[in-house]
Amino acid sequence: MEPQQRSPLLEVRGNVELKRPLVKAPSRLPLPGTRFKRGPDRMEDALEPEKKRTRGLDTVTKIATSHPRPPALTVRPQTQSQTTAPKVPKKTGPRCSTAIGTVLKNQKPGPAVPAQKPGAAPPMLGGKKPTKRPAWDLKGQLCDLNAELKCCRERTQTLNQENQHLQDQLKEAQQQARALGAECRTLEGELARVQAQAEQGQQELGNLRARVLELEEQLGTQQGLVQELQKEQVGLQEERRGLAARLAEQERRLQASEAALSGSQAEVASLRQEAATQAALLVTQGERLHGLEMERRRLHNQLQELKGNIRVFCRVRPVLPGEPTPSPGFLLFPSGPSGPSDPPTRLSVSRSDERRGTLSGTPAPTTRHDFSFDRVFPPGSGQDQVFEEIAMLVQSALDGYPVCIFAYGQTGSGKTFTMEGGPGGDPQVEGLIPRALRHLFSVAQELGGQGWTYSFVASYVEIYNETVRDLLATGTRKGQGGECEIRRAGPGSEELTVTNARYVPVSCEKEVEALLQLARQNRAVARTSQNERSSRSHSVFQLQISGEHAGRGLQCAAPLSLVDLAGSERLDPGLALGPGERERLRETQAINSSLSTLGLVIMALSNKESHVPYRNSKLTYLLQNSLGGSAKMLMFVNISPLEENVSESLNSLRFASKVNQCVIGTAQANKK
Ligand code: ADP
Ligand code: MG
Repeated sequence: MEPQQRSPLLEVRGNVELKRPLVKAPSRLPLPGTRFKRGPDRMEDALEPEKKRTRGLDTVTKIATSHPRPPALTVRPQTQSQTTAPKVPKKTGPRCSTAIGTVLKNQKPGPAVPAQKPGAAPPMLGGKKPTKRPAWDLKGQLCDLNAELKCCRERTQTLNQENQHLQDQLKEAQQQARALGAECRTLEGELARVQAQAEQGQQELGNLRARVLELEEQLGTQQGLVQELQKEQVGLQEERRGLAARLAEQERRLQASEAALSGSQAEVASLRQEAATQAALLVTQGERLHGLEMERRRLHNQLQELKGNIRVFCRVRPVLPGEPTPSPGFLLFPSGPSGPSDPPTRLSVSRSDERRGTLSGTPAPTTRHDFSFDRVFPPGSGQDQVFEEIAMLVQSALDGYPVCIFAYGQTGSGKTFTMEGGPGGDPQVEGLIPRALRHLFSVAQELGGQGWTYSFVASYVEIYNETVRDLLATGTRKGQGGECEIRRAGPGSEELTVTNARYVPVSCEKEVEALLQLARQNRAVARTSQNERSSRSHSVFQLQISGEHAGRGLQCAAPLSLVDLAGSERLDPGLALGPGERERLRETQAINSSLSTLGLVIMALSNKESHVPYRNSKLTYLLQNSLGGSAKMLMFVNISPLEENVSESLNSLRFASKVNQCVIGTAQANKK
């Protein structure tokens, strides 16, 4: 217990001490402070000598000796008795002597011993012997004896009184002892109660301490909470202020909006009226627009026809890394009549006549071969430039005119690069097929605004050795090249279809890209069994375009064909004819046959012959709807820039020139 705190026990003791005066204590009680230390038995002990004294004669004697009393037979002078008073025995404790002393003090003085009669025999005093009467003085003796008897009687009476008095005192003392015992028991009970209270208090104190600690802890938590709440309150107040400001702002805006709304309502009314007028105007304009669109189509077609329904573009690929650089002047691209700003249309090939040079011993003379086409693309021309020239032609397909674009040339001259694009998926080297389809999708979307809806269905086949194979085959048919046949779509139908080939609806360039990828995979699988088959076969990408103007009940449909022809090179006649070469010869014959049939068909068409030999090859048979009638045809003649390929290049250029000459058109004629 800490010194500054007062223990509950002490407090109780204090209370007891404070209460003490309330306890009725007899005046003869021991001193305060010693009272609690002594039990009831000790109190009895304290009283015991007194009891003994009252019982026994010794005690009486002692008491008698402790107080001067008149002698029984002799009278002593007062002064002498005082000086010779026997001493109180030392062994009597101070407390006992005090008690007894107190008792004796309270003792009523006994009746005084009667004074000796004058003239009677003097009583025997101290050491002095009384005067003895002579034996004959019987009367005197009798008188003495009577006096002595009287004295004894008085003395007996006195002692009886004293005894009575002492018994009274004893009773009183016993009563006091009983009272003290009772008081002691009461106090003990009280003490026990107080101790119990103290213990309880102690326990309560412990509990209270624990509670205080708990409460202090709670207080700490609560204080933390309060701080947090205060912080939150500050934040909320801030937020409230912000919200109030926003509310005010919103109210201000609302008022402004309401004002604007009423203004707008008036405006809407006038605009509605205006809209009705505009709608009427729109109908008129729509009519006019449709008329203009039809006119555009007519003029566009006319323009294409003026350019020629059969056009030939020549494209020379660049020299690839690792290839020998051709001698300067080998290929020349003379400018047009308006100078270098004119797009080139002419190509000159210089060929040295080695045979003549060797014979004469002089440097071989060169022969220059000039060619003229609708357009010539020198090696540096990009895919975008090439496509720009054919975009309008491709667009004719949307107007319902069949369009067919060929790539012709020897293997390695850039036909596949032109049609499909370069490797790596680089958008810069994207070929004509993805570009043409993207262009068609975008123009079809624009025409959608005028009420036209278009659908596109793609197919991709290759013709090898006069057999047709689906390049879009998937699953088990992939790369197997199951036999496909070219048939009419129905009895009496002009439309042709390839049996077993997939016709895939497309609507975006991603789908087209996926198809081209699939075709590349199919070719790659085929390549493992037959070497470089792709260059020995014609690849025909066809897009069936169908357009409809539901509002006007108009429809148009036309195929767009993009053809990567087989390599036009001839078989070297000097080669020994092994089994592989024989196969190669058959391939070449098939290719040559189909290419020459293509030339013949074009000739017949341009000469407007009654019979066009479409059926002479699978290629022309498949493409017949894209070649005749109102069809527009474009042929790319792809040329290698290498001198070693000059012979094949000249062959290709001659074939293309023939095709070009077939073109009979006003613009072409005017140009020439
Ligand atoms: P073909 O299909 O006629 O056999 P390719 O298109 O396969 O020839 O072209 C042969 C190689 O020349 C290919 O590597 C191709 O990338 C490249 N090539 C062709 N034309 C070009 C061009 N205009 N620009 C760059 N590289 C070209
Ligand atoms: Mg190719």
